[in-house]
Amino acid sequence: MIDFSLTEQQKELQSLAREFAREEIIPVAAEFDRSEEYPEQVIAKAAQIGLLNVSVPEHAGGLGLGMLDECILGEELAYGCMGIYTILMASELGITPIVIGGTEAQQKQWLEPLVSGAKLASFALSEPGNGSDAAALKTKAVIDGDEIVLNGSKMWITNGGIAEFAVVFATVDASLRTKGSVAVIVPRETKGFSHNKIHHKMGQRASYTAELVFEDARVPISYMLGGVGDGFKIAMKTLDKTRIPVAAGSNGITKRALEESVKYARAREAFGKPISEFQLIQAKIAQMYMGLETARLATYRAAWLVDNGLPHVSEAALAKAYASEVAFNAANEAIQVHGGFGYVGEYPVEKLLRDAKLNMIFESTNEIQRLVMARGLLKD
Ligand SMILES: Cc1cc2nc3c(=O)[nH]c(=O)nc-3n(C[C@H](O)[C@H](O)[C@H](O)COP(=O)(O)OP(=O)(O)OC[C@H]3O[C@@H](n4cnc5c(N)ncnc54)[C@H](O)[C@@H]3O)c2cc1C
Repeated sequence: MIDFSLTEQQKELQSLAREFAREEIIPVAAEFDRSEEYPEQVIAKAAQIGLLNVSVPEHAGGLGLGMLDECILGEELAYGCMGIYTILMASELGITPIVIGGTEAQQKQWLEPLVSGAKLASFALSEPGNGSDAAALKTKAVIDGDEIVLNGSKMWITNGGIAEFAVVFATVDASLRTKGSVAVIVPRETKGFSHNKIHHKMGQRASYTAELVFEDARVPISYMLGGVGDGFKIAMKTLDKTRIPVAAGSNGITKRALEESVKYARAREAFGKPISEFQLIQAKIAQMYMGLETARLATYRAAWLVDNGLPHVSEAALAKAYASEVAFNAANEAIQVHGGFGYVGEYPVEKLLRDAKLNMIFESTNEIQRLVMARGLLKD
């Protein structure tokens, strides 16, 4: 039986997030995009009303919300600003490997503190020399008695350095590829762990992106998730889930592009009538609507599979690749609908395009999503 309705709780979550986006995010989004500053107050307010770290399980004191809930939330927040939403989304990304690979005691130790206040997690897989080929980890982990010593660097880490901890993927022996991989929780204050903020991103500038550097950074061995050889599996299982909220964020961008286009097309006149009366403009609006509705269906279906414990790898890849491309195209067409005004920052549509581009790159590029889908289709 197919049921497209949301529960009362999900409707409440949706209206809470919608109101938050309208009142707290939209008024400041352009300013944080310009300044590239971290929107501390916005994140603090999001935490206060329960929109941050929503996937922390109940046994660790959290709300234990499901993937569909996260997607409902994500679409609304990204409607306001994808960059600000990415801060929250990346924190859920940092939580997920602990939920997947951590013991109950580790989940309590690391996730319970995230529930109070504006505290973030981060996920550190990508390195300067390798992103797509995640098995080619160079960050070195040496097990020294009851400690792990890390050396190396991680690149493009969202919330990196400002989060309470990073889940760092490293290798005890690079020649072993995935069999040598480990996942280690490294608290922000660890000696030998530093970071450099990355500036001048094309979009999503409110999100904090950093290079992480580990120089003889030592943590207790109890901070490792699983054992040696489990790191890569934990990372892949994480991304197979967390790329679905990227799709949801993309849907927020598409929805905004559509609504801004409708508003502008009704108000702007050319040749003595509103441009909304031109069929070429109507076709763009209809195309955005088709993209939004189909991408949302793909996103919700992938989320539903996760929530029901069903295989979801190809569906998550499909949702992420499809929704992010729909968003990019919708933002592009929204600029076109706005003509010259769309090309400058006075209207929000040029930011939508810059923000949408990143969703085609992070949490594995859309080329990698296509490989994931093809692998699923071509195997016996
Ligand atoms: C702002 C930002 C935030 C990010 N946040 C995080 C984060 O929080 N944590 C984290 O770990 N990472 C993060 N990333 C990193 C992101 O996941 C990587 O950039 C991405 O996976 C691509 O890796 P790469 O940049 O090394 O590109 P490369 O792997 O060098 O790829 C370059 C190009 O080659 C293509 N390519 C590579 N291999 C193949 C193949 N086999 N077949 C076809 N094409 C291929 C890619 O699709 C891409 O087009 C972030 C990146 C950015 C820009």
